[in-house]
Amino acid sequence: KAKDNYSHPYEVYDEVSHRQQLESQKYISAMEDALKQREFITYYQPKYDMTGDTPRLAGAEALVRWQSKTEGGMISPGKFIPLFEQNGLIYKLDLYIWEEVARQMKEWKEKYSFNFPISVNVSRVDLYSPNLLLEIEQIIDRHGLTFRDLALEITESVCAADTETILSVVRNLRDHGFKIEMDDFGSGYSSLNMLSRMPINVLKMDMKFFQRNAGNDEIMDAMIRLIIDFAKVMKVPVIAEGVEDKEQADYLKAIGCDMIQGYYFGRPMPAAEFEKLLQQNC
Ligand code: C2E
Ligand code: MG
Ligand code: MG
Ligand code: MG
Repeated sequence: KAKDNYSHPYEVYDEVSHRQQLESQKYISAMEDALKQREFITYYQPKYDMTGDTPRLAGAEALVRWQSKTEGGMISPGKFIPLFEQNGLIYKLDLYIWEEVARQMKEWKEKYSFNFPISVNVSRVDLYSPNLLLEIEQIIDRHGLTFRDLALEITESVCAADTETILSVVRNLRDHGFKIEMDDFGSGYSSLNMLSRMPINVLKMDMKFFQRNAGNDEIMDAMIRLIIDFAKVMKVPVIAEGVEDKEQADYLKAIGCDMIQGYYFGRPMPAAEFEKLLQQNC
């Protein structure tokens, strides 16, 4: 059965050739060293609420960066996250990132007054870890935070697998008070059945809707409106991701998009830089 190809996170990679496996093996030991050397750092990208007269700082997404000493310079997550996912290392990395975000959040909450959560990314693979809820709860307790302080971004592609497991894990997280943000919404992996049953608090529209090719603008605009209408029916706010210019931002605001995240308002930035935004706004 076709759907069984996606029923377990590790099975997908059976297709990877042996040579590729050997090559990624090299990369993996580099990653394990990097974890020990604390080469992974967290950037923060602001999210803005568009429902008022002027855009208002209303959230942030934590995004991992790998400052590699051996590879020289910054490696983007697009390169190493898939490898981490193949080898089960991703959960370890994500725990590390969540811990760092929790520590940072606690510090910021004491210095500034704001009531939005910081969003962290949760890999599809993490959702299969039996200790996920327990360990994330421990992180929150250790730093004196509440479930309201971290939001969880879960990519829409988890809805491709019709597994009750995923659904119950996400429901459990939500029932404990985590806000669930459906990431990359509209990227096209969803089973509509799964989607309708997924407990979602926020929809994050996939950025492909803003990457324009000549000829399909009209269709893309229709899709954007469709998603915004869908979010209204679901009674959840919608965030547009990957907004790079004023024209897009104005258009989105005009058609009722609640929030915007993108280079136009701010790139992912080091913690110290994001703190300046908190200083100015909160
Ligand atoms: P994502 O969660 O969908 O994050 C949004 C990505 O879009 C980020 O890429 C961000 O830098 C980029 N972006 C934001 N605004 C714009 C824009 O206006 N234009 C363009 N072209 N790009 C924009 P990034 O940081 O490279 O991360 C890529 C993906 O890696 C993330 O996609 C997420 O799936 C994954 N990722 C990042 N950090 C983590 C993490 O700590 N844990 C896990 N499991 N995954 C992570
Ligand atoms: Mg995300
Ligand atoms: Mg996304
Ligand atoms: Mg993504």
